Amino acid sequence: EPELAGDFGVLMEWADRHRRMGVRTNAETPEDCRTARGFGAEGIGLCRTEHMFFDAARISAVRAMILAENEEGRRAALARLLPEQRSDFVEIFHTMAGLPCTIRLLDPPLHEFLPTRDEEFEELSETLGLGVDHLKRRAGELHEFNPMLGHRGCRLGITFPEIYEMQARAIFEAACEVTAEGGDPVVPEVMIPLVATRKELEILRALVDRVAAEVFAEKGASVDYLVGTMIELPRAALMAGEIAKEAKFFSFGTNDLTQTALGVSRDDAGRFLGPYVDKGIYERDPFVSLDVDGVGQLVEIAAERGRATRPEIKLGICGEHGGDPESIMFCEKVGLDYVSASPYRVPIARLAAAQAALKAPK
Ligand code: PEP
Ligand code: MG
Repeated sequence: EPELAGDFGVLMEWADRHRRMGVRTNAETPEDCRTARGFGAEGIGLCRTEHMFFDAARISAVRAMILAENEEGRRAALARLLPEQRSDFVEIFHTMAGLPCTIRLLDPPLHEFLPTRDEEFEELSETLGLGVDHLKRRAGELHEFNPMLGHRGCRLGITFPEIYEMQARAIFEAACEVTAEGGDPVVPEVMIPLVATRKELEILRALVDRVAAEVFAEKGASVDYLVGTMIELPRAALMAGEIAKEAKFFSFGTNDLTQTALGVSRDDAGRFLGPYVDKGIYERDPFVSLDVDGVGQLVEIAAERGRATRPEIKLGICGEHGGDPESIMFCEKVGLDYVSASPYRVPIARLAAAQAALKAPK
């Protein structure tokens, strides 16, 4: 576990005295959490849950869920995953004891979970009691040409609510379990990805609230929690006033917001963005340093409209830009409450947040 000792530690303490914004981390494993805490992270701003599903046994359970015939089949496929998902969160809550933890519900592109190989179809056929040909047809129907603009984020939670139910249950069971051990209570912040409309969030917030109530009734215990959303699509930024009616917090997903506002694939941008920056078309790589003139306006609009609806709404950023000093300067200007950076960027973010606060007009 890294510690910031010596002069560097002193510098960080000075920085902390001057900064206004909180600094959280993007962390999805207990190791990430320990690293980030050692560097002074004040909570998790984004715990992605996609990678938790990538080991062979878990991915096949998700595949079975997706291809199951009905709700009952989907629930049965996911039941196997609940204990493991619960222990994922128990470990994370332990490591972050007492600090806020934003857990984002599943946001993979669907194709990462669709079977492709014959062995995978055969295994699924056995698990689900359905014919291989039938399963191949069903997988074919779900195939997408543009998965990153398709069935991902909350859209998955709308089509397959059982997966979000399982995750919400795991979060609340874990939070109750860790809180019951004494120490600081766990206050999970449940985050819904890729929301574009208020209705999506309304439906999924109701789902999360229902599961929380069920878990609390079963346990005879409860924890405080928040439900909020990523703002990572231009439509969500523009409709933030409506969306804030359902959200206690917004976290700006500036990776997707940049991709969708610029119409540039974040995965392929490297192919042409270099010369673009050389020619000064963009001053810096917009996936590294926020395009404050363009994408920044969407952030400002969303912050303003969100606050108009809900003055106390908590605002943060969890895209890669949350660890970039230039972008952090902009976050200060917009008045975000916190930035969230990958573990090794936490010290930079602390320093940049202090510099931004010192430079801000008093
Ligand atoms: C984002 O889009 O900025 C974000 C933080 O989510 P992800 O990178 O997981 O899509
Ligand atoms: Mg995103």
